[in-house]
Amino acid sequence: MLPVVVVHGGAGLVPKERSEKSTMGVCSAAQAAYLILQGGGSSMDAVVEAVTQMENNPTFNAGCGSLLNIKGEVEMDAIMMDGRTLASGAVSAVRNIANPVQLARLVMDKTSHVCLTAEGASQFARSMGVAEVPQESLITEYSRMRWKKNLAPDANPVECQMGRMGTVGAVAVDVEGNVACATSTGGLSNKMEGRVGDTPCIGSGGYADNLSGAVSTTGDGETIMKVVLARLILFHMEQGQSAEAASDLGLACLKSRVEGLGGVVTVDPRGNWAARFTTENMSWAAAQRGTLHYGLYSGEHLTRSI
Ligand code: ASP
Repeated sequence: MLPVVVVHGGAGLVPKERSEKSTMGVCSAAQAAYLILQGGGSSMDAVVEAVTQMENNPTFNAGCGSLLNIKGEVEMDAIMMDGRTLASGAVSAVRNIANPVQLARLVMDKTSHVCLTAEGASQFARSMGVAEVPQESLITEYSRMRWKKNLAPDANPVECQMGRMGTVGAVAVDVEGNVACATSTGGLSNKMEGRVGDTPCIGSGGYADNLSGAVSTTGDGETIMKVVLARLILFHMEQGQSAEAASDLGLACLKSRVEGLGGVVTVDPRGNWAARFTTENMSWAAAQRGTLHYGLYSGEHLTRSI
């Protein structure tokens, strides 16, 4: 069963013209992470690699491709967590860097803190020699188009929801049975300046614990935080539920308690995994035992050999 990696490219409504790119993006990120795991690499390295690849892919709402805040600017959130030690690192509302997930890892490895925000996160990035990139290099035509449409006083809710997909995340278990998670996002289109979502909040955007498993979440952050979705799912696994049943229970609670929609990827330390969502779409891919599993629509589960 080990190793295994499962990635997602965001829960929401993926427009037809973007569905192929989104599926290809998650498949190649899962394969790259799987190569690391097959070579004996750690689950931490695997999830950072998968998320870095998707941050660099303009199809997704993370790194290059991030959605824009109300002022038309990029502010990004990311988290990662090590299930072996419960060490975690996060950044929120960070600007001008290409790979927030790598900065989150530096916060974990090089500071005594769990989360750095905004200008403080940027200063830390500079002190670590992380290259600053111009904001323009993170903005795509698509994200600018979404921002402009959502600014219109008559913006329709379906269009707004279409702008709400593309957060990226990964969970993995390495050959030693260590679990890890990572999640990265540009957040919600037209969000207020300084808005921080669920993604960098430990237990909401992700959680990893070798005693139960790892989860990366996506969806409506304001509701995900209210039910602490990633930790809630692991709680259900601690109560004996499978990765899939626990994911469904967590998402059902999100819907019934706070009317939230979203998606998750989940693993347990033995390598059982799930990719579940309550939105129209979530691109996802999993690599295990030489097979790539992937899908985008509810109930879709395709496979091919790696
Ligand atoms: N959860 C992210 C946020 O609220 C958005 C998403 O997953 O699409 O920032």
